[in-house]
Amino acid sequence: MNFDVILIRYGELTTKGKNRIDFTTLLVNNVKKKLHQFKEDFLIKKEFDRLFIELLNPSSSSTIVAILQKIFGFSSMSLAKKVSRQPIDMAEQAIAFINYYQPQTFKLEIRRNDKTYQATSTELKQMLAPIILKNTEVKVDIHHPEMQIDIEVRKYFSYVFINQMTALGGLPVGISGKGLVMLSGGIDSPVAAFLTMKRGMSVEYLHFATPPHTSKEALAKVKTLVQKLTPYANNQTQRLHVVNFSMLQHELMHIPEPSYRITIMRRMFYRIANILARQYHCQAIITGESLGQVASQTIESINTINDVSSLSVLRPVICFDKNEIIKIAKDIDTYETSILPFEDCCSLFVPKNPIIKPKLAVAEEQEKDLMWEDILNVIIEKSIVTYTIGSYGENYEKS
Ligand code: ATP
Ligand code: MG
Repeated sequence: MNFDVILIRYGELTTKGKNRIDFTTLLVNNVKKKLHQFKEDFLIKKEFDRLFIELLNPSSSSTIVAILQKIFGFSSMSLAKKVSRQPIDMAEQAIAFINYYQPQTFKLEIRRNDKTYQATSTELKQMLAPIILKNTEVKVDIHHPEMQIDIEVRKYFSYVFINQMTALGGLPVGISGKGLVMLSGGIDSPVAAFLTMKRGMSVEYLHFATPPHTSKEALAKVKTLVQKLTPYANNQTQRLHVVNFSMLQHELMHIPEPSYRITIMRRMFYRIANILARQYHCQAIITGESLGQVASQTIESINTINDVSSLSVLRPVICFDKNEIIKIAKDIDTYETSILPFEDCCSLFVPKNPIIKPKLAVAEEQEKDLMWEDILNVIIEKSIVTYTIGSYGENYEKS
């Protein structure tokens, strides 16, 4: 069946008081950007409690719904038929649904958004039910109906629908500023990126590569992850900054106490992330760290590493079990890519016994005689490549 309109419910947005206008305006902008390629096929209209997307071309409706299902900032949506406010038109549409889907039982739910409408919801139900029952074979079942027919009566039209699809929830991406995601190619950091966007933060990505120890395939994998995360973003493309970390990695081989190698490497990651975050106007750094998952993610490690960061570090999966992270990774379709077997730069330089409870003073002592500051400056100047990546894979661009 073809539908006239998608009715979108704001959910959490409705609780935001005077900020509400900002939220809904941003949501509309995000929706327009994501549906840009179908811009001839829909009209968008914002009302206080709903967003309406009028569908002008039935052939693109299902794609439009699929795109909307990856946009943060609303709780649910329904494909609806738009009819007049005359009860007979509402009844006729309800009958059309019943004739098309052939349920045995049904239930009617009426929501009157326009309180000045001539009849209350109960009165309207009493008007419509007999017409529906007289013209079809269907029976009423208010407890377990096979089909629920919803009618929303608004100021100029009424909307009849039989489905309510849950949406992603969250806040419109961009409302919470911008962050820089440290994206490794593993399972956890893409999930961290997704959850950050869910709370309204737009993101750029930072990946550390150590060629030739890490391969082109490993980089391709990270690009694929960005590509898979792009539908959730507030733009058609996202930026991935790839830092060639090899020079610094070699320098880190001179650390006197090898068990501190990962701790120091991660302090270098954070230092570079802080510099780039400020350069790209990001207000936070995001990682996929999860408490206790590996030696570098004990609270002692996190504290020792975090000490070099002046920007807030958000760790969306910090208290998630691996299984919980994997579940989200599967839901957002990053899991299969994340588990492809390519070395990342950490796995190549892991010492035999990485320190589990590093001390800040020792870490600082270990770094003291390294040439890291000069090398870090050279890396920032010369060893970063930025890629612009869209949802369609092939439009990778180097800049
Ligand atoms: P992931 O599954 O995200 O790779 P992990 O469990 O393998 O995480 P680590 O390798 O200790 O954990 O990395 C912790 C976090 O540090 C990652 O989630 C990511 O945010 C960041 N990180 C690690 N390696 C890199 C890298 N090569 N480039 C960018 N960020 C990285
Ligand atoms: Mg990793």
